[in-house]
Parts: sequence; structure tokens; C-alpha cells
Amino acid sequence: MQNAKSLGLMIILTISLAVLPMLLHDGLTSVKTGMRPNLFEYVYGEQAKSAEEVYLKSVSEVQQQSDNRNSSVTTTNNTTTQVPNAAKGPTIPTDKGYLVQEIGEDLYSVSDGSYNTMFMVTDEGVIAIDAPPTLGAKYLKAIAEVTNKPITHLIYSHAHLDHIGAAGIFPDNVTIVAQQETEDELQRAMSIATNTSAIPPVPTMTFPKNMTMQVGNQTLELDYYGNNHLPGNIFIYAPNQRVLMLVDIVFPGWIPFAYLAIAKDTAGFIQAHDIALNNYDFNTIVAGHLTRLGTRADVEVQREFVTDLEKAAADANQNVTFSGIANQVGGFDNPWLLFREYIDTINKQCEDEMLPKWENRLGGAESFMLMHCFTMTQSGRVDPTIRALFQDGS
Ligand SMILES: [Zn+2]
Repeated sequence: MQNAKSLGLMIILTISLAVLPMLLHDGLTSVKTGMRPNLFEYVYGEQAKSAEEVYLKSVSEVQQQSDNRNSSVTTTNNTTTQVPNAAKGPTIPTDKGYLVQEIGEDLYSVSDGSYNTMFMVTDEGVIAIDAPPTLGAKYLKAIAEVTNKPITHLIYSHAHLDHIGAAGIFPDNVTIVAQQETEDELQRAMSIATNTSAIPPVPTMTFPKNMTMQVGNQTLELDYYGNNHLPGNIFIYAPNQRVLMLVDIVFPGWIPFAYLAIAKDTAGFIQAHDIALNNYDFNTIVAGHLTRLGTRADVEVQREFVTDLEKAAADANQNVTFSGIANQVGGFDNPWLLFREYIDTINKQCEDEMLPKWENRLGGAESFMLMHCFTMTQSGRVDPTIRALFQDGS
């Protein structure tokens, strides 16, 4: 029994590994749904709860500071970091722990200051999208604030647990819609899990490319263009409300989460910006993370950031030579030492080119720039698509 539990824990830890950096950054969850054992408490125990509380408290403090002065300042140990105005968001009511906003006719966003999502009220019921564990059961309260209609549909933006891990809060008979690759990933997790109740429910309705959801008087368009952040990550568009939901690509007011938001496909991640801007007529983008929702301008700003990063990475790859580093470290005898110095030198050069322009424009530039430089320079070294982009830009 003990062995089975240990094995189950190992498997869940393995499944969670892909999203662990995101969870560590954005706060771990401690949802108590009463309907389904919580994945994250099961994996991380009480430590998870305290990490989430600490993170959400710090988000709340940043928001309070930003309400009180023009430029908010967060102090962590010995470092002081300016948070640009662009990174500030609305205050999350501390008594409720979430904020609901109507962002279009019968379309609502819900945010806890670190994660956000949206739900749509139709005359036949509610279409919920995602189920971030940081929101957990508060999501149900947010929906109940604006309607007493039943939740009939749930859409998964993608398979990552930090966005859908609390899906067990919804009724068992809800229709769960996702792109085929999202179902494949969850089925794979189910097939190796000893505790399958810890995996979000598998979708009951899937599509390969496009699907128009007409529920009652409301319309949502779901589109898949291939891998970007993760295989199966879709564009969710409310045409009548001119709202686009696209998760883990754009981070309004902030540079992306580390390593281009741990994108599985760097070229797909870059291209997703252009698809959003070229294919959709939207005023608001629900992007899944951080302090506020976004606009078209936020997507354009992050596209500019990514373009600058492509150029800085291409320049660094070109300027730093492997033989020059070999001379510094005394030859080729220890290739990992050589690569370590080579990568460090390239990353530093890329960071030096990027920070002056972006450190006061978007939040978090100092925290993650080196990691973005790593992803883009390494992609430029080995990915044919990114190498081709570098050539076009030079
Ligand atoms: Zn994700």
C-alpha cells in the first residue's frame, strides 16, 4: 500500500514537472472542493498552501502600493524592483479573493491577481473556460454572483494543470470541450496515474482544427493552429463581444514567464502573436496570467519584445565564437564547461542588449531576461525555423 502510494506520488510529480516552474512562480494551490482530492495538496502538502498564500499576499501588497503611489516598489531581501505602470492591475477584493468584471455582453472575466480566466452566460446555461487551482471553488462563487443558471459546458484552453487542475469543481454532467491534443495528453496522464482522480477529467467533446460553439444565444469560436506554448493550446474567440482568450502566450504589462513561458515550440509561440493580431478583431484579451487583462496594444508590445529578443539573440549567437571561449577555458577537453561558458557569455550579451529598453517598460524584465535569452539563443542554434527567422532579420 505504501509502495503504491509512493509510486502514485512519483507519477504525479513527473506529470507536474512540466508546470512546476509556473506553479512555483505563480503560487501553489490549496483548493478544497470537497468533490475531488486536490492534486496539488496531494503532491505538495501543506507547503503548497503556504506558498500560495505568500504569493497571493505579495500580489495584493503590490496592488495596494500601486493604488497609493505613481510607481509601486516591491522590496525583496536586498533588492528593490520598480514595477512599471503598465504592470499594474485592478485591486482584488481581499475579502473575496477574486474580482469579476463584465468584459462584454454576458461575458465575464474572473481573476485572483495571479491567474485569470473567463465564463460566458447563455440563455441555456454557463460556458466556463479553464479552472485554475488558485481560484478553485472561488470560480463557482464568481459565477453565482452574476447568474443562477447551471454550468453546462467547460472548455480547456490547454492541458496544463495550473490552468485546469481544479476542473473537478464542476458538475459531473458538464460537457468538456478541448482540442484533440489536449485530450491525448490527459489520456496519457490517466493511463500512467495510479490515482486518476488527481487528473482533470478527460474532455467529452474534441475537435482537430476549428469548432464553433453555439449555445443558446451565444457564440464562441475555438481555433487550433498547431503547437505553440503546448500542443493543443487554442484560441478562444467571442466574436460578438470582441474578446479573445489565449493562455500562456501574452502577459499583459509583464515580460513572459521564464523561458518564453516554457513554450514547447518557440516558432509557434512567436507566430501566435501574429495569428492573434491578424486573424481576430478583439478589444480585450484574456491571457491567463498576472495583474490585469490585456488589449490589442499589449499583444503588439509583446510582439515588439519578441522581435527585439530575436535580434538580440541572433546578434549574440553571431558575436560570441566557440573558439574564443575555448581559448578562455583552456581548450576543448571539457565540452560541458566550454558550453557553459559559451552559453553564459551569449546570454549576458543578449541580456545587456535587451534590458535598457525593456526594464522600465514591462514588469519582470530583470527577473526573466536571461532565461528568455537562453531559450531564443538555443532555439536559434538548433531549430531550423528560428534560424530561418534570424536570417530574415539580419
Ligand atoms: Zn500552460
